[in-house]
Amino acid sequence: MSQLYDRVALIGLGLIASSLFWAMKRDGLAGEVVGYARSSETRATAREIGLCDRIYDTAVEAVEGADLVVLCVPVGAMDSVAREIAPALKQGATVTDVGSVKRAIVDAVAPHIPEGVHFVPSHPLAGTEHSGPRSGFAELFEDRWFLIVPVEGSDANAVDRIETLWQAMGSKTARMDADHHDLVLAVTSHAPHLIAYTMVGVADDLSRVTDSEVINYSAAGFRDFTRIAASDPTMWRDVFLNNKDATLEILGRFTEELFALQRAIRTEDGDMLHDYFTRTRAIRRGIVEAGQDTDAPNFGRSKS
Ligand code: NAP
Repeated sequence: MSQLYDRVALIGLGLIASSLFWAMKRDGLAGEVVGYARSSETRATAREIGLCDRIYDTAVEAVEGADLVVLCVPVGAMDSVAREIAPALKQGATVTDVGSVKRAIVDAVAPHIPEGVHFVPSHPLAGTEHSGPRSGFAELFEDRWFLIVPVEGSDANAVDRIETLWQAMGSKTARMDADHHDLVLAVTSHAPHLIAYTMVGVADDLSRVTDSEVINYSAAGFRDFTRIAASDPTMWRDVFLNNKDATLEILGRFTEELFALQRAIRTEDGDMLHDYFTRTRAIRRGIVEAGQDTDAPNFGRSKS
């Protein structure tokens, strides 16, 4: 794949930005990729490990002359970052973001985007529980979805080009509206994260066993919860505060289902439980058939 942008600016240099950098460099997708991070510590790390062709001490300097600007900061920081860089954006440039929530970002960022600059929000459905400039790797986006959320009046060529960029990194792409995005992600990501946080919190409350059994006998189910619950606290705080309605809607439904299962256990309604688990097993099969997870025993782990 040939070069798609002459100069790309990454604002925020954590897991997603560093993965974007390594993927763009590997595939020659940008002439130059520059970066900015808030703390001098992160900027020093980036310089040390060769993350970005150049690191700037201000976001304004980083975006000057860039054809593509990617906002890779927590959802709650998008507004202030967009406001700061807006006057320095080049005419004809595209601004995108990788935030996990879309409606709140569209509402916060779009008003700052000057006339003649294109805003095309995005969201990679790819990540790990690690964060920071050292955590990225070029393969993060391979075979994962990169959702594109064009806003009203988004320039068709700008949308096509960014879609080509994400595809060139190995991602599958789909376009959707911001509200629909937030509802889908509340089901597939946000509510499950909250449930994982809760489950780990419950185990921690049982302090009698925390020191010993919960850790020692951490079976796959609970261990998967702890991995998810190790995700970045700032990122996830911002996700819930900025996707409030959809998350609360899904959690309401979750609570109803939980009560139904609780009742089935109390009344020893084995048929209900069996039917329920048969239905959920079919969903899992569908995910594996769609290539979204591995069917390997123990999720492909080498050791239990
Ligand atoms: P990360 O590794 O924690 O990095 C965040 C970066 O943003 C750091 O460079 C940090 O700067 C900077 N930052 C934090 N607060 C800031 C503020 N108030 N103003 C300016 N810069 C600030 O985060 P990430 O995982 O790459 O996530 C970045 C975005 O991608 C988030 O919007 C998140 O919702 C989205 N996302 C994440 C995942 C995932 O699994 N991690 C998946 C998809 C999308 P310092 O290092 O200097 O503090």
